[in-house]
This record gives sequence, structure tokens and C-alpha cells, in this order.
Amino acid sequence: MAVSVRTLDDGAWISVNDSRAVGVSQIWPIARHDFCECEIAHLLLEAFYDVGVDEHRIVAGVVGQCIDCGTEGSIDTLPVGRIIDGDFYAYDPGQVQSLLEPVEDPDTGTHRLSGRF
Ligand SMILES: [Zn+2]
Repeated sequence: MAVSVRTLDDGAWISVNDSRAVGVSQIWPIARHDFCECEIAHLLLEAFYDVGVDEHRIVAGVVGQCIDCGTEGSIDTLPVGRIIDGDFYAYDPGQVQSLLEPVEDPDTGTHRLSGRF
């Protein structure tokens, strides 16, 4: 089944199947990244410049700023949610996203860190 994704409002939103799914101005903790020197970057999203489907995940290109150290930059493939049976399920921005080989915690179904970055 085809899932249509695009950015809206000059990158303020990601639209999935023609509904607004993920917006900017949220803080996403990011682990296992090379965005800045922080062990976990708390990334305030400023804009989405790209969005695509990577197997069952929706990944976005984002511009943002780490609120801990002030680094500004971009991430090409930030996972923002996943597709299950054609429906979109957004990740909780409060949950740490791991950009490299996310490890699923079998007890909670959430992502956790694995090792050093
Ligand atoms: Zn930082």
C-alpha cells in the first residue's frame, strides 16, 4: 500500500496521507548521532526539508538546534514515526531516538541506547 508523505507550510509540518502528522517546535532527544558533542542531543526542530519512507519508517530531513550546546545543523534521516498496516504512528518526541541501529527494548517496545556512540 502506498503511503504519501510530504512537507507542508514551508517545512513546518510533515503530512502523512494528507493529514498533518508531525510538527516542528518540538524537542527530540537524539542518541547515537554526530550532530554535536552532546551524549544526547536535545534537538529543537525548526523545519523539515525532506521526508520519505524507509521501509516501515518515516524519516525526515530536519533543521534544528541542540538546546544544550546551541549547535545548529541538520539531520538527513530523523525517524519520526512508522507505518503499521498502512497507518502512521508517530514516535513520541519525548522518547529518545537513536539514529544508528535503534535497539528495541523487548519489555517496553521503546528504543534504548546500546553502547557508546
Ligand atoms: Zn548538543
